Amino acid sequence: MKINDSHFHLDTSRSLKKSVDQLKRILDLNNIEKLLLISLKNEPWTYKDFCKEIDRLNGVYYVREIDPTENYKKVLNEIIASKASGIKLHPRLRNFNLKNKNIYKIIERCEKLNLDLVVICAFWDGEWNKYNLSENQYADLADTFQNQKFLWAHSGGHKILDFMFMARRRHNVFLDSSFTQNYFFSGSVFSDLIYSINSLPNKFIFGSDFENLDYKKTLNLLVNKLKKNGIENHTLEKFLHSNFNGLFHFNG
Ligand SMILES: [Zn+2]
Repeated sequence: MKINDSHFHLDTSRSLKKSVDQLKRILDLNNIEKLLLISLKNEPWTYKDFCKEIDRLNGVYYVREIDPTENYKKVLNEIIASKASGIKLHPRLRNFNLKNKNIYKIIERCEKLNLDLVVICAFWDGEWNKYNLSENQYADLADTFQNQKFLWAHSGGHKILDFMFMARRRHNVFLDSSFTQNYFFSGSVFSDLIYSINSLPNKFIFGSDFENLDYKKTLNLLVNKLKKNGIENHTLEKFLHSNFNGLFHFNG
């Protein structure tokens, strides 16, 4: 079984070098062909050092977080100058919503430059009201930038059916399964995930976010559970492997 993983972070409790070594082990041990690494702004190393280490690895792509509420122009220039595949927006951690005008300026530039991806955290944690974030803002962004691909990370959490329907109507949106798939490992949300993957088999992409878990064990548990609950082999292959390629131009 070949795996592509669309959501992974380096372990920030180790040095950059040790954390990258650990990533290499995970890639080898789990037959991971390609992986999307997410670099957040508060990691304990510079983005420059991060790029230097990661650019040496085969099959590892990355997006860098940009915070529209602070010095975004400088950060965007750094991202554009690097080999990043795109940007990551984290409304939940940085407390902004997607009506923010700077976000529209940032994505306009990404679209013009033909960057592969805009990844946006879409996990509903019960506090979206505090910064006026709402589901429709995700749809509005995707509708405004039709030539930009979006990856909605965590598929909306327990609001997965809402996000699945929004993705169904938008050719430029994909969903990653990370966190939601193991946080809600039993119960109705997992059934919704199964229903959603089967109903949009070309749009759901496996993302692990397994940094604090035993990767192999968690992946096996997940795959067994998906199979047992009615995900057929050809859909599973798309989810775990081939859909990932739809995110990228792969043109260097
Ligand atoms: Zn994450």
